[in-house]
Amino acid sequence: MNPTHIPDRRGRFGSYGGIFVPETLMPAVEELAVAYDEAHADAAFLAEFEHLLRTYAGRPTPLTFARRLTADLGGAKIYLKREDLAHTGAHKINNALGQALLARRMGKSRIVAETGAGQHGVASATVAALLGLACVVYMGTEDMRRQRINVFRMRLLGAEVRPVDAGSRTLKDAINEAIRDWVTNVADTHYLLGSALGPHPYPVMVRDFQSVIGKEAREQILQAEGELPDLCIACVGGGSNAIGLFHAFRNDPVELLGVEAGGMGIEGGQHAARFADPERGRLGVLHGTQTYVLQTRDGQIALTHSVSAGLDYAAIGPEHAYLREIGRAGYTYATDDEALDAFQRLSRLEGIMPALESAHAVAEVIKRAPDMPPESLVIVNISGRGDKDIFTVAEVLDIDLGGEE
Ligand SMILES: *Cc1c(COP(=O)(O)O)cnc(C)c1O
Repeated sequence: MNPTHIPDRRGRFGSYGGIFVPETLMPAVEELAVAYDEAHADAAFLAEFEHLLRTYAGRPTPLTFARRLTADLGGAKIYLKREDLAHTGAHKINNALGQALLARRMGKSRIVAETGAGQHGVASATVAALLGLACVVYMGTEDMRRQRINVFRMRLLGAEVRPVDAGSRTLKDAINEAIRDWVTNVADTHYLLGSALGPHPYPVMVRDFQSVIGKEAREQILQAEGELPDLCIACVGGGSNAIGLFHAFRNDPVELLGVEAGGMGIEGGQHAARFADPERGRLGVLHGTQTYVLQTRDGQIALTHSVSAGLDYAAIGPEHAYLREIGRAGYTYATDDEALDAFQRLSRLEGIMPALESAHAVAEVIKRAPDMPPESLVIVNISGRGDKDIFTVAEVLDIDLGGEE
């Protein structure tokens, strides 16, 4: 693999990625690709981005040695990359900051975003407030019901949350509406997409903005241990926190492992594991990119399920499809139950409550670490904090919190 040529100028990672959009959207996508190329080559733009990551988002985030988890599992030394400590509680702020700066540079005064669990909506509303941009967040009504607190948070930050009552009333439908808004208002509007998905240049742009995770982690592990890790693990929804961690290690002899949402198990189809289900996970096009998409036998987008809303999406970022095909990264899944278990275990052993998304990565290290020699090193990306998930956890574990009836 020659990473300098990946993706090519049309955003293709081998046979994945590209630009699959209607003609009406083409000018917007092309304008963005040109603007991103210029910004990416502009030292002043990059300097401002890095300045805000440091002084606003709280970077660098620490790399924490998980002493008690390591002892408990009795194998590899486990380090946690602490994106849960970034401003707004997850890695999403890295990308949101980068794209908001780009929007301002392009002369746009308004951003639109989609959100599922609300994390990306909150990050978008946050950076819009920071830079004085108008912000509209599209959210499925089902997700709004499940994530009332994040809806309120976005409104407090000055964003307008627009309910989407179409389809399954979740993330996929919110993305459709955000794209529609972008086409209609492209003169003053930037679409701030939240993961390494969508038409070129989004997958490469989001990867670049998130690659600070791996850059820091690589330096930090060399500082702490004097050597590279054997294994890096991250959960994969659209794939932005995973590609953000993996990218800095792409040319190193380091195993890269992504963890998808296995939901209730692969058999019944109640999951979001695009790679693990050969029956439903097939090559397709969703939201402007060609990649693995969970679909029905006749090619309709399949309904997905995960206890973690952030992993609950039918398509995976195209670069992951490519890394898997060339054998550079491996992919597995964790079920809802395994993630819930990992959530509780990390909370009790380390005093770190991971997001349910991140708990999927923790579940995998729980499986892998005991069989690894004690001198081996693993980095697990804690993509976000779990505070947002405590009500979900209580509901699933059937714990009565009192208060409301
Ligand atoms: C959104 C989110 C994810 C999933 O998105 P990716 O693009 O796959 O990283 C994972 N963890 C957290 C905490 C999130 O908010």
